[in-house]
Amino acid sequence: MVGAGILGLAIAWECARRGARVRLAEARAVGSGCSGGLVGALAPHAPDAGAGWTPLKAFQLDSLAAAPGFWAEVAAAGGHDPGYARTGRLQPLADAAAVTRAAAQVQAAGTRWAGRGRLEVVPAPAGGWPAAPATGLCLLDDLTARIHPRRALAALAAALAARGGRIDAGRAEDERPGGPAAAVVWATGWEGLARLAAGLGRDAGGPVKGQALAVALPGVAGRPLLHAGGLFVVPHADGTVAIGSTAEREFADPFATDDRLEALHAAAVAACPALAGAPVVARWAGLRPRSATGRPVLGPWPGRPGHFVANGAFRIGFGLAPGIAGLMADLVLEGRDAIPGEMRLAPG
Ligand SMILES: Cc1cc2nc3c(=O)[nH]c(=O)nc-3n(C[C@H](O)[C@H](O)[C@H](O)COP(=O)(O)OP(=O)(O)OC[C@H]3O[C@@H](n4cnc5c(N)ncnc54)[C@H](O)[C@@H]3O)c2cc1C
Repeated sequence: MVGAGILGLAIAWECARRGARVRLAEARAVGSGCSGGLVGALAPHAPDAGAGWTPLKAFQLDSLAAAPGFWAEVAAAGGHDPGYARTGRLQPLADAAAVTRAAAQVQAAGTRWAGRGRLEVVPAPAGGWPAAPATGLCLLDDLTARIHPRRALAALAAALAARGGRIDAGRAEDERPGGPAAAVVWATGWEGLARLAAGLGRDAGGPVKGQALAVALPGVAGRPLLHAGGLFVVPHADGTVAIGSTAEREFADPFATDDRLEALHAAAVAACPALAGAPVVARWAGLRPRSATGRPVLGPWPGRPGHFVANGAFRIGFGLAPGIAGLMADLVLEGRDAIPGEMRLAPG
């Protein structure tokens, strides 16, 4: 394995769990890439009735449904709590059009979600979580969960170690690492996508910067996530609440936070008055690995026998991790290719 972000660690763990001997090489440190952030929303796509339902959305749903078992096993194996909880999500409905659309989504969820979660329109709760919308209504689902990104990585690293896996941090692998590995999986984030595309002469897509922050607000860990006006408010078990995220195609410094984050914070307080006055305890920025299609790229590395790619999880790497780990372990260890077509790295 190469790359100790959420994809590399989840695949490494899944392979070790199935009995493989695993070494994971990381250029810097566990979580030094996009996965070392603050947010950790595990939220399904809106179950629209029409053509908007894609194999990726269905795959993400399967992965979210697998998450409770996946994370429970990781916690049990390594003894570290990843901060996973299925606390649900509230989306305030701003106007009559939003209420009409929500009604259609509730109906579509009946078939699309196939009993794995419930979606309903409910009265907005009192108490500023969220600000009361003009309609007085919210869309509530019980499928959405949260996970603490940094704790999840630590939990995976501990679980991997418990199964005899090794992490070598502080050394970048070149594109043909030596050693006796029978297979090498490259889960190297935005840098890896750029190198892959350059090597194959294809469009790299390009990373999308994101900024997020965390405030201290104890006592709300069991509340549902809020998804309002494009932003997420995610209460974590450690007494922090994460607020995310910006999405920036153009930026000067990929890892600096700036006024856009302060504007996001102000918007979050307006959407969720319960956050007012809560002190900021962390600010963070990173680069999301976005492929040319915006979808994951998984599969054998064209022209490099024994090498595989797991990348391009873009905005939902934590949500997709259990599913991608299973797909890649099937492929690498058992030669079974169940990768949905639109997520497969095109051969040749
Ligand atoms: C602000 C923000 C908020 C987000 N919120 C969410 C969210 O709420 N829910 C969600 O599911 N997702 C979220 N995401 C997206 C999620 O973080 C990414 O999809 C995910 O982290 C990608 O993981 P990765 O393992 O592919 O890449 P990375 O985490 O970037 O890992 C790649 C690793 O490979 C290493 N590496 C690179 N090259 C080499 C080399 N040659 N040799 C050795 N090591 C190498 C890097 O150092 C790095 O550690 C968010 C992203 C951002 C930026």
